[in-house]
Amino acid sequence: MLWQGLIHKYQKYLNIDKNSKIISICEGNTPLIKAPAIEKICGVKNLSVYLKFEGANPSGSFKDRGMTVAITKAINSGLHTMVCASTGNTSASAAAYTAYARSVGFENAKCVVLIPDGYVALGKLAQAIAYGSKIVQINGNFDKALDIVKELSKEAGIALVNSVNPDRIEGQKTAAFEVCEQLGKSPDILSIPVGNAGNITAYWKGFCEYFAEGSINKKPQMIGFQAAGSAPIVLGKAVENPETIATAIRIGNPASWQSAVNAAKESNGYIDAVTDEEIISAYKLIHSSQGVCCEPASAASVAGLIKSAKLGKIPENSTIICILTGNGLKDPETAIKTNEFKPMKAEANIDSVVKALGL
Ligand SMILES: *Cc1c(COP(=O)(O)O)cnc(C)c1O
Repeated sequence: MLWQGLIHKYQKYLNIDKNSKIISICEGNTPLIKAPAIEKICGVKNLSVYLKFEGANPSGSFKDRGMTVAITKAINSGLHTMVCASTGNTSASAAAYTAYARSVGFENAKCVVLIPDGYVALGKLAQAIAYGSKIVQINGNFDKALDIVKELSKEAGIALVNSVNPDRIEGQKTAAFEVCEQLGKSPDILSIPVGNAGNITAYWKGFCEYFAEGSINKKPQMIGFQAAGSAPIVLGKAVENPETIATAIRIGNPASWQSAVNAAKESNGYIDAVTDEEIISAYKLIHSSQGVCCEPASAASVAGLIKSAKLGKIPENSTIICILTGNGLKDPETAIKTNEFKPMKAEANIDSVVKALGL
């Protein structure tokens, strides 16, 4: 059957008025990929590890799950300007769904994004530009940008579409439903990168709802990973100047801090940190051994699983899902830099190419 996006599939869990015009670009239904290379490097007996590749969503990240719900609800309630602060993917997604809204009867829909002055991966910025949003780069980090858009959204007609908007969390919880359907059961462990902490909150909500209605007979242990240079939840205090190569999780004061801690606690899980070295090592492994192209931030879930396995925290016979939150094509610079790529040079003839290859 034709896939028509996650609101179509999960409407009864989403509290969307049935007369709403749905703003969907067919998000969701992303691949769950078996990961033998990760199973092997963990060195624990009989693991089943899968990668949930959220980079396959229309704008290339899981943010689309939240955005289809947040923008459908905002637009149908008469709001016309979608605003967000973003390390890149929220703005790409908000801009995409606003563009679609303009073509289905909401001609006045606009998208305004605030980006931090630090590094935003070029592909994400390119998306926000191409989808047609207004972009303001502020002289400050993500946390400052979020403070400003919260203020801005008090103006008439404006919707805040960051994950502090509960509709975002509602949409994102559908990923937990999908995982259970694809596996035919609940995983034992779910490993996930943590930035502003909306996504771990959303998955946990999804698993709890499926458990409560009897669709699954257990809930997974939630293990979340921040980058060591921006690990406020692990440190127990906000980080003034967060730093990490994983720019999508470069956040010093997560908006959903408490609910992330609750998800970890209620599920007997934990939130830990992984270093940029561990992130890059996992990032390279995911590409070179699984053929999957994810962002550095996404690789934190795999880096965290590997770290946990080495620490003896992963039981034998577990089924584990690692969430790959975004598509690596957004950030080709990191792929080239971390592999220290230099092209081999040759003259334009077969002999010279054979020689350059050392054949
Ligand atoms: C937004 C994002 C994250 C972090 O998700 P939170 O809900 O902010 O914790 C991780 N990876 C990627 C690629 C993202 O875009």
